Amino acid sequence: MKFMRDFSNFYNKRFIWAISLFFGFIFNLPQVSFAYPLKERRSLQRSIMDYRSRLNPGYEKVRRKKTKYIIVHTSELGLKMTLRVVSKGKRLRNGRRTHGGHAHYVIARNGRTYRVLDKKYVADHAGLSMWNGETDISNISIGIELVGYHYGSITESQYRSVGILINILQGVYGLDDRAVLTHSQVAYGKPNRWFRKNQRGRKRCASNFIREKAGLEATWSYDPDVRSGRLLADLQLSKIYYGRRKYYAKTDDGNVITQSNTAWSIAGEDYDSRTTVYKFPDGHVYAGDQISGKIGWDRIPVKTVVLLNQENSISLIKSHDPIKTISDRLTAWSFAGQAYDLKTTIYFLPSGRIKVGSMISDWDDLPAKTKLIVGYRGPYKLDNGQSAYEIAGLKYKDRKTIYYLPPKKLLAGDKINDFKGLPKGTLIFLPTT
Ligand SMILES: [Zn+2]
Repeated sequence: MKFMRDFSNFYNKRFIWAISLFFGFIFNLPQVSFAYPLKERRSLQRSIMDYRSRLNPGYEKVRRKKTKYIIVHTSELGLKMTLRVVSKGKRLRNGRRTHGGHAHYVIARNGRTYRVLDKKYVADHAGLSMWNGETDISNISIGIELVGYHYGSITESQYRSVGILINILQGVYGLDDRAVLTHSQVAYGKPNRWFRKNQRGRKRCASNFIREKAGLEATWSYDPDVRSGRLLADLQLSKIYYGRRKYYAKTDDGNVITQSNTAWSIAGEDYDSRTTVYKFPDGHVYAGDQISGKIGWDRIPVKTVVLLNQENSISLIKSHDPIKTISDRLTAWSFAGQAYDLKTTIYFLPSGRIKVGSMISDWDDLPAKTKLIVGYRGPYKLDNGQSAYEIAGLKYKDRKTIYYLPPKKLLAGDKINDFKGLPKGTLIFLPTT
């Protein structure tokens, strides 16, 4: 008996081995190792929000013939706008609008995953792109958008979801870790004022994606299209992706112009777009398409803040009002950047609640119409009989002194006429500098 069992075991193993060798040989499938257990893969799959019904009906669904890559993007927008853009479409430079279908999946900053387009179809996500000599990467890849900015950070929840999702897709399509790339790795641009040849650097998105955090290992140690001379390298991107030392996109400079952080390295091809906004340190605001005529590309001052994807919101950015309002396009990150979670950034929610940055879990969790002030201390409560002057001193009428009048009114000092009529419980916030 024992002999028989051993024999059958042996026989089974050999059989399985032979079968896998056969199929491995026929399909040349790379070994897919699942970094995440089945239970977690199943639970993510079950939790995916189906957003397919919101896809623009004008988007023409075409079946993808092969799938060689998974491309990771950062959306450079908040969740609401990201979903709108990838499903409904976006405005192009020539004024035309696309028909959506710009990603298969969107992953919110809390890790929630949305399915925008069935994975069997081509999503229009990579644009002008090339990898290893092959162009039009959209036709041979899955596109995943992470909500956030390439000069900001990707959340732990996003890494977890994207890691599991990639793992599932690797299993479906038989892809190894080298098949997972970012958009900034595969996008390329036509010659422009900086480059005489086709080059990398057209897109910056997901250059802050840390592969290890998504459970990915093996990767490319060089850019095959740069090595072969098909494309010119982008200095910053090649440092990030192929540098000898591990080098991650520096987020300290973020979207602020410095000697090394140029308009091109922040905005890529959108540097001169009408929807890219430059806010100079002196407060002047220009759209990307005004810079060459009014300023000159080599004359943008350091400390200029660059905001991407700003359709119709220039006037809001221009405003010197210290009270900022969150909208679909202008997130807490747009106004406060990395200061979004500091104690000195104060949020006034539409519900009437007041929260300081350190109470906020993420900049994308705040509802539209939330107001915020950046760089403030307080609140100082106006007690019975106390005057604003006693708290704010000579600056009590200043436009930078902020008054919160219960239940929900927020006013700058220069907008208040009757200081004696301030209601009991009024809160005063003073600028830290
Ligand atoms: Zn992208």
